[in-house]
Amino acid sequence: MTTLTPTHSSSIPNLDPAIEAIRAKVTAGIRLSLDDGKVLYETDDIWSVLELAKLVRDRMHPGVAYYNINRHLNYSNVCALSCKFCEFARKQGDEGEYTRDLEYIKEQGRKAVKSGATEFHIVGGLNPYLPFEYYTDMLKALREVAPQVHLKAFTAVELVHLARIAKVYKREDPKIGVRWVLEKLKEAGLGSLPGGGAEVFDERVHKEAFKTKIGAHEWLDVHLVAHELGLNTNCTMLYGHVDKQDERLRHMEILRRSQDQALHRLGYESDPDGYIAQGVVESEQITAPVITLNKAGVKLPTPDGVFFQRAATVRERSSLECQSIRPLPHGRGSSEKTRIRGGYYQTITPLPFFPDGSDLEDLPGPTGLENLRTLAITRLMLDNFPHVKSFWIMQSLPMAQLMLESGADDIDGTVVWYDITKAVGEGTHQETTELDLKRAIIEAGYEPVERDTLYRRVDRDGSRWWVSK
Ligand code: SF4
Repeated sequence: MTTLTPTHSSSIPNLDPAIEAIRAKVTAGIRLSLDDGKVLYETDDIWSVLELAKLVRDRMHPGVAYYNINRHLNYSNVCALSCKFCEFARKQGDEGEYTRDLEYIKEQGRKAVKSGATEFHIVGGLNPYLPFEYYTDMLKALREVAPQVHLKAFTAVELVHLARIAKVYKREDPKIGVRWVLEKLKEAGLGSLPGGGAEVFDERVHKEAFKTKIGAHEWLDVHLVAHELGLNTNCTMLYGHVDKQDERLRHMEILRRSQDQALHRLGYESDPDGYIAQGVVESEQITAPVITLNKAGVKLPTPDGVFFQRAATVRERSSLECQSIRPLPHGRGSSEKTRIRGGYYQTITPLPFFPDGSDLEDLPGPTGLENLRTLAITRLMLDNFPHVKSFWIMQSLPMAQLMLESGADDIDGTVVWYDITKAVGEGTHQETTELDLKRAIIEAGYEPVERDTLYRRVDRDGSRWWVSK
């Protein structure tokens, strides 16, 4: 594959002068405004948009791109809701409906161990016929047969559903029930949240395309509680259906404010040049200062510990310790610095909408160029997200390669079985090999790095693996 050649040089005039002001901000690591985002969507000079996103991506992850060895597990496609863009859900008794029993789940666990997987990605429909214990038993069963494999499980809407079926949901404050649920799931082996179901945070889009599903407030509340419990989470943006570009930008703004809040709690310093959009974050609870990670020299949070220049206040330190974040051992600068353990967004994955089989199949869906541009803008706007993922199943592997040069630093994993939505093939068997992933990354000009779910480097000897020291 040929690599993209940057078009900006002193001998080639820029096609759009408005891009130059954005270039200056990006070079200095200054947060872009919603108006900047609009320019990036509307400019004809898409090459500069991609080039700027690559600049940020290379500054944050010089020379490398990540993949993992994982397996997806969709435990049931029975769902009480009927979101218009969904081609996965079935009603009980419909042709093709399924709910996996514990024996099936254990078998998947054994296969995962045999194949050397480091992660299970577990999501399903909102099955009204399963008791809460089904979910804790599922995680415990996987823990038993695959103790080393990280369990990344359940989207925000599933967790609210679990609070309802466990009868701990309180309409006046959904956080209370969700906290109870997450604590029980954590005890059973939950390691992090995958982050789907965010769609596009906007009341109009919500009403039109998924009105019975939770909205932005509840989605953010679930992630807030997860972060407070020290769990890392991820997030998505399902775009290209009834949404508009300015609604996508507001979605990005809400997510980056939510990440500001998470990083502030963990001790990151605020950015004095920070831009806060007014009136786009409906949730009053997001009052944190702007925090950016895309400046040269800023260290990214990792579960192994990142040490900050600023000493945590007594109040922050006690709150950090509540979240199982331990100060450094005495004698290694513990009085000056704070150590991160967990409780932030790791990755944003823009997901293009696929109309086929959904109630919106008369819509065209996004083009490849729109997918590239949206991913690049996501990298540029979400300046406080450590990672941007191009999910190869929904983008295709060749497109994921292009995206590695346009803002993405991760292409997800080997997957094996995937039953939600995919760009390539009709069946649910969606396996690619580690060799194919590595080759795709090398062809795109990066060193492939196998990571675990928490983005730690993995070394392996066949199916045996360990986190690099
Ligand atoms: S998107 Fe999720 S909640 Fe909506 S119908 Fe599909 S499975 Fe159910």
